Amino acid sequence: MDEQTAPRAPGPLRRAGSRLLEAAHGASAQTPVIVKVGGPVLAVSLGMALYLEGALDTEACGGTPACTELSQQVSLVTTDGTALMLVVLWLVFIAFVGRRTKRLADVARRVSEGDLTARVGGHARQGDAARPPRDELMMVSGQFDRMLDTLVTEQQRLQGLTDALEHQATHDVVTGLGNRTLLLRQVEEMLAVPRTSPLAVVKVELDDLATIDATLGHAVGELVVTTTALRLSAAVRGDERVVRVSGSVFAVLVDDVPDDADAAAIALRLLEVVNRPVDVEGATIVVSACAGAVLHRPGDERTAHDVLRDAALALHSAQRTGAEADSVARTVIYTPRLREEVLERSRTADELRATLSGQPGTGQLQVHYQPYALLTDPSRVAGFEALVRWQHPQRGLVSPLEFVPVAEEVGLIRPIGLRVLQDAAERSAAWHAIDPSRAWTTSVNLSPQQLLDVDLVHRVGDVLARTGLAPHLLTLELTETAMMLDLDGAARRLQALRDIGVGIAIDDFGTGSSSLSYLHQLPVDVVKLDRAFISRLEDDATSLAMVRAVLDIASALGLTTIAEGIETPGQLRILGELGCDKAQGFLLSRPVPQDVAQDLLLGARQLGGAGAGDLRVAP
Ligand code: C2E
Ligand code: MG
Ligand code: MG
Repeated sequence: MDEQTAPRAPGPLRRAGSRLLEAAHGASAQTPVIVKVGGPVLAVSLGMALYLEGALDTEACGGTPACTELSQQVSLVTTDGTALMLVVLWLVFIAFVGRRTKRLADVARRVSEGDLTARVGGHARQGDAARPPRDELMMVSGQFDRMLDTLVTEQQRLQGLTDALEHQATHDVVTGLGNRTLLLRQVEEMLAVPRTSPLAVVKVELDDLATIDATLGHAVGELVVTTTALRLSAAVRGDERVVRVSGSVFAVLVDDVPDDADAAAIALRLLEVVNRPVDVEGATIVVSACAGAVLHRPGDERTAHDVLRDAALALHSAQRTGAEADSVARTVIYTPRLREEVLERSRTADELRATLSGQPGTGQLQVHYQPYALLTDPSRVAGFEALVRWQHPQRGLVSPLEFVPVAEEVGLIRPIGLRVLQDAAERSAAWHAIDPSRAWTTSVNLSPQQLLDVDLVHRVGDVLARTGLAPHLLTLELTETAMMLDLDGAARRLQALRDIGVGIAIDDFGTGSSSLSYLHQLPVDVVKLDRAFISRLEDDATSLAMVRAVLDIASALGLTTIAEGIETPGQLRILGELGCDKAQGFLLSRPVPQDVAQDLLLGARQLGGAGAGDLRVAP
């Protein structure tokens, strides 16, 4: 017998053994028997004896028959107690721990499946001093539940943060309206289900927000924006949804819009509420806007992005065409033609770039000259207006009306303008050299972009220096609209040009949004009355009255007047009677190439007999 199996002192163990044996004999094979022996527990179950505190040793029983029988009954007996302890633990685990462990595992599984309402329960919770945890497992269970409580609180906090972030990402801070992201999502959702009726997106853009911001301050700009947001929100009906797409652009999403006419009606309704003055601290700010709408019909092949893009295209078109018009003209509904026009413009821009860079086979820019004459002597040329044309390899002679706006849009007008100025100055200098006694003036059109050029005065001075043209023989024509873009800057640059001797003319006078009051604010020498007045002169009393008024004021201010677009002898006569200084129009001559212009100048050809023009007649 080795040390491990050495007999141990009998005592409670032996007694326990006996009692256990008795109990085992009395129990059926399936019935577990629990024998309480003081503190320790002996359990006999299906022939298995277990002792909690130490080993069960047959030797220790003293070799009694009971002990021997017990040892035969016991299937698991060890002398060092290790295996026993394991089995005991297992049983305790099953009996006491297992249920709770299973509950724990169950809760853990439910949590892992996303059910954060699951709790182990049945233990003292934090702060429950009256029910302190009974054992470690209970403690762990309690901690587990508390951990879940914290998790739920955190989850709620995170959900709150996520909601706030989501709101921020889809809403405009200034107006509280939804933003472009929200609009896009809403359109996406509407397109995700098969549609039975069209939906419409109407975009509305305030005209002069940047100017309001720049001149009156950002706070005033924001007030205009929030007022507009409120007005639009009040104007939308039913499930129409209004968002602020970007700085000055709003959009309204409308479901079930039967056709383009309805979309146009919605756009007009929106413009009507936006086009109202906003009062700020006693001052009244005039607010105006343009609208572009797109109708997306069932079956149309478009993504939500495409829908918004087409609405923007319509808006852009409204802004280009309706700058000075009323609400009706300032509303454009998208058509595939608009897209084609955009493509056409971009093609024109590409080709213009190629022409400007001198690429062979891409055509060339030409300058034609339209003469004007003194009304007191309409048969003699008093000067020319330089008008640019584009000799295109396929399209023939292209009107500036077709490519100058494109050139303005894509930033090509400055190089084009400089070329025209260069050509006109060279030509004018050459003509002046033929007869220095005649003060033939040459007028060159300047685009708004050129007027914004801070180097304008320097560039003009440079051309004059290189061509040798006397500054007083050059007049630069600008529209009122161009001058309005940057009134102070324009006034400064125009004054600087006048200081070097160049004349300044207001072109198309009467068509812009400005008024006679600007005439004395701007350094101007010449007023060119727009063809629109002249063409109605003979049969419209209002036009006659307006022309008379402008001529009177111009005369009072010491300005030279030129009437544009004279086509009939009657118009020429009336203008002469009203005291207009100079006449220009097809009646005298259409714009002509430089050699024809020179013939007119030198009398080799007569004014009034120039015949067919270079371009088809402008409508
Ligand atoms: P604009 O400066 O007002 O030029 C007058 C336009 O009216 C010219 O059209 C001329 O051909 C046309 N016109 C003149 N008399 C009559 C008439 O009796 N009846 C009719 N129906 N039309 C007449 P064009 O050459 O097509 O030029 C159109 C516009 O293009 C010009 O209007 C000007 O704004 C712009 N433009 C022309 N050349 C240049 C240029 O070199 N630079 C810039 N920035 N713009 C230019
Ligand atoms: Mg002009
Ligand atoms: Mg004009």
